[in-house]
Amino acid sequence: MRHSNLHTHTVFSDGYYTVEETVLAAIDRNMISLGISDHSSGDFDPCGIRVRAVDAYHREVRRCAEKYKDKIEVYVGLELDGYSEVNKADYDYLIGDVHYVRCDDGSLQGIDWSRESQQKLIDTYFDHDPMKLAQLYYKTYVERQQLHQPDVLGHFDLIRLFGLMPTDSKAYLDLATDALFTCLKITPVMEINMVPMVLRGDSEPYPRTNILKEAVAHGAKLVLSSDAHKVENLTRGFDDEILRLKAIGVKEIVQFVGKRFVEVGI
Ligand SMILES: [Zn+2]
Ligand SMILES: [Zn+2]
Repeated sequence: MRHSNLHTHTVFSDGYYTVEETVLAAIDRNMISLGISDHSSGDFDPCGIRVRAVDAYHREVRRCAEKYKDKIEVYVGLELDGYSEVNKADYDYLIGDVHYVRCDDGSLQGIDWSRESQQKLIDTYFDHDPMKLAQLYYKTYVERQQLHQPDVLGHFDLIRLFGLMPTDSKAYLDLATDALFTCLKITPVMEINMVPMVLRGDSEPYPRTNILKEAVAHGAKLVLSSDAHKVENLTRGFDDEILRLKAIGVKEIVQFVGKRFVEVGI
């Protein structure tokens, strides 16, 4: 199968390679399509595209798309944080994500900086109770997706990345699946994000398999995402993940080809 990846970062946000280097690496891998999805801009987010660079970002991705159009489809996307603002019409697709929650004092607090910072967040704002943070995270996830109506549900259970959440408890699973079912009505396309497996040595991507199975049972269309910040990781883990998906009964995924999501058998 020729792979496709829509979740890619470049030097316009917190990635390591230029757009053109990333496109050339994708061509090298014989990928069918590539989306560049740098982080959205926002005063609160040091990882986002600088506001003054947004036009240059569009120009550069479009330039590369045109230059290499005979070899690969290249799209201009955005990883939209829930608290950023965006004009959807400017992009070929949006990946909706949540990296920040708004706490009682009105501040936006990042959830995925480090294990220590997430623990401090739980202790400071959530009475030392990780479930209270999980509740605000999933509430935020639903609300921001409803607001922005993205094309792809991004790293759905990011909140669990440091192992601080009670992910095997019924209460946590109920919380996550309730949010999931609401979000699947906004868009059925959900990414399987490889970061936990590729970079963290985890055995499962976002979302974990128990949530993934619920998603599939509720009609989710799965798209493989590497969330690559380096070209070395553009499709890393995809072949193994397809085998894993087949083993749990998934028969098809979707890829963004011809500027729309198309189903591909696996
Ligand atoms: Zn993200
Ligand atoms: Zn990302």
